[in-house]
Amino acid sequence: MAHVLVIGGGVAGAATALLAARQGHTAELFERDTRAPGTALDRDFFGWRRPTVPQAAQPHALLGAARTVLRDELPDVYAEMLRLGARERHELDWFDVRPPELPGDEGLVMLQARRIVLESALATALRAEPGVVVRYGEPVTGLTTAGTSRTSRTSRTARRFRSSRSFRSRRLRSRTRPPGSTSRE
Ligand SMILES: Cc1cc2nc3c(=O)[nH]c(=O)nc-3n(C[C@H](O)[C@H](O)[C@H](O)COP(=O)(O)OP(=O)(O)OC[C@H]3O[C@@H](n4cnc5c(N)ncnc54)[C@H](O)[C@@H]3O)c2cc1C
Repeated sequence: MAHVLVIGGGVAGAATALLAARQGHTAELFERDTRAPGTALDRDFFGWRRPTVPQAAQPHALLGAARTVLRDELPDVYAEMLRLGARERHELDWFDVRPPELPGDEGLVMLQARRIVLESALATALRAEPGVVVRYGEPVTGLTTAGTSRTSRTSRTARRFRSSRSFRSRRLRSRTRPPGSTSRE
């Protein structure tokens, strides 16, 4: 089992940390924003200035494949989205006359919501996940790999990470470094 470091707590990062923990790994997520998505959706949607995630103000539609993955792999997140008001719509409902049904068409369902609904559902699941530590307000500005003598541009977080968790991070670096690779920023 690995200790997985995730940089960025958007939808991809949050889902990655969650899925890693549920596969038996531990995960540590670094997010530059100091604020976490909450369950007060209107407050977050209208009152949270998010220059690093400008699309947060946009509605989002998860197409059929993404909805299927979410429903199968993170059913609690899927259920929470529906509870918070996400709506489902079969993609073939756009047609005035539905085309003849084909096998698999039942999966062509879009899940639509404000993006904060998905973020809030993921954040709720992360908070309940014992294998995940989420570090808000901790940007990562560089990475180092094992064997490097250069101190590349790293954040306070990354430096602290190396010093306070040296054994674990050494292990992680040695696992993630491809054979023959050199350090790079
Ligand atoms: C206008 C618009 C509409 C869209 N509509 C849809 C849609 O309808 N359906 C759909 O599926 N997709 C849609 N997308 C795409 C979707 O928003 C992105 O695919 C998705 O947000 C990517 O998720 P992410 O987690 O990779 O990045 P983001 O959600 O952008 O999150 C990145 C996170 O990383 C953090 N971060 C960045 N740098 C650092 C750092 N150095 N250290 C720590 N944290 C950091 C940021 O603060 C942010 O929280 C849309 C995108 C746009 C722009």
